[in-house]
Amino acid sequence: MRARPLVMKFGGTSVADADAIGRLIAIVGAAARRPGAPLVVVVSAMSGVTDRLLALASAAEQRETDRIAEGLRQLSARHLEALHRLVQPQDAARVARDIDAHFEDLRALLTAVAILREASPNALDAVASIGELVSSRLVAAALTSAGLAAAWIDARRTIVTDAVHMTAAPLTDPTAGAVAREIDPALDAGRIAVVGGFVGATAQGVTTTLGRGGSDYSAAIIGAALQASEIQIWTDVDGMLTADPRIIDRPRVVSHLSFSEASELAYFGAKVLHPSTILPAVAQDIPVRILNSHRATAPGTLITSTPARRDTPLAAVACKRHVTMVEITSTRMLMAHGFLRRVFEAFDRHRTSVDVVTTSEVSVSVTIDDDSRLTDIVESLSEFADVRFERGMAILCAVGDNLRADPRLSAEVVGALEGFPLRMVSQAASRRNVTIVLSEADLTRGMHRLHEEFFREPVETQLAVRSSQLGKDL
Ligand code: ASP
Ligand code: MG
Repeated sequence: MRARPLVMKFGGTSVADADAIGRLIAIVGAAARRPGAPLVVVVSAMSGVTDRLLALASAAEQRETDRIAEGLRQLSARHLEALHRLVQPQDAARVARDIDAHFEDLRALLTAVAILREASPNALDAVASIGELVSSRLVAAALTSAGLAAAWIDARRTIVTDAVHMTAAPLTDPTAGAVAREIDPALDAGRIAVVGGFVGATAQGVTTTLGRGGSDYSAAIIGAALQASEIQIWTDVDGMLTADPRIIDRPRVVSHLSFSEASELAYFGAKVLHPSTILPAVAQDIPVRILNSHRATAPGTLITSTPARRDTPLAAVACKRHVTMVEITSTRMLMAHGFLRRVFEAFDRHRTSVDVVTTSEVSVSVTIDDDSRLTDIVESLSEFADVRFERGMAILCAVGDNLRADPRLSAEVVGALEGFPLRMVSQAASRRNVTIVLSEADLTRGMHRLHEEFFREPVETQLAVRSSQLGKDL
């Protein structure tokens, strides 16, 4: 029996040009030299290409012929330049023809859009798919040229989705069948399977895409179908951080996060990876590792379905600014039956989602992100309650599975903020976070206080880490 494959996904900046693809080759080459695991490489479009393709589709709707011609020329030149730098001349001509064929498809699609003066979701998917189709062609050829035998896999034959264009959902069983048919033979032949992310097709073969940023999702779907040993997400940062680097000078990289912790952090805009996109992998206990293609030896962040093992009690502290707090006090003596329902109905009616909630016997405090409907909300609430609101608030949140197990930890988090006027403190059912609402003016100091308290490193370790990183870059 074959060993479980390793899936390596490279984002747009990690395939941006010949230099980036050169780093990819070094990384994949190192993995290929380790005995055993078959490799699947999933790639995004070169950085910025998806945006450009979609812009070309709108240019076609407007019949901006010159812009389209110029756009096509630039896209093709960018890919061919990388191709000629990476692939030996005897192979480059053949690969260039394959890449050209995709750009010919693109030209035809844009002509159709111009005739119809409409880019339907269906057409947009066909246009956007070109980015991953050509980047994957290029990477497969570059690997082969570097002596790492690779097979190009057509994502449209591999990921079977529903027909909801632009945000298509994969169909598990048909995809498992298609992955076995398209990818397994390449792996069995000892080749590296290279497939474009983001792209799929319906069972009828109509091209779809999984939604922006969907290449991580592709990697997880393929990894799940192949029962991969691990999925690596190669990007341009070291991993998930212990705090917001705009506030904390030197946040640490979180070595290991549970999927639940990663999900809690996602709300705070941890842009590295959206946990929902790796759900297919996590559901099958396949670990996902975030790694930096510019610093291939940095350990990265490991995300697993089980609780994390690491040397800090918390996973990270996160924050959100520009929050508005609304305090609602029942005008009756006590909270009458139906009070909470009416409170939430008021927010619902004005299509505003509520984030943090705390309640007492007579009042409810909530925070909202979007206060564009605040006047209407206050008016609705005032029918049955006294309402105060305060803009310029912030949410500070400590996240860690340990908060469940160790009740003292929550108290320590709140204790570390002694002296700060905390306006709301909440720990909800998951008990994986302690969420604190305070004035935005206090946020930076509060974040520093928590980070110092829970992620303080002995100076010697910091120095050791820094010197061990020197000269390690590929
Ligand atoms: N290229 C696609 C995008 O830019 C998908 C991805 O990169 O994950 O959204
Ligand atoms: Mg991405």
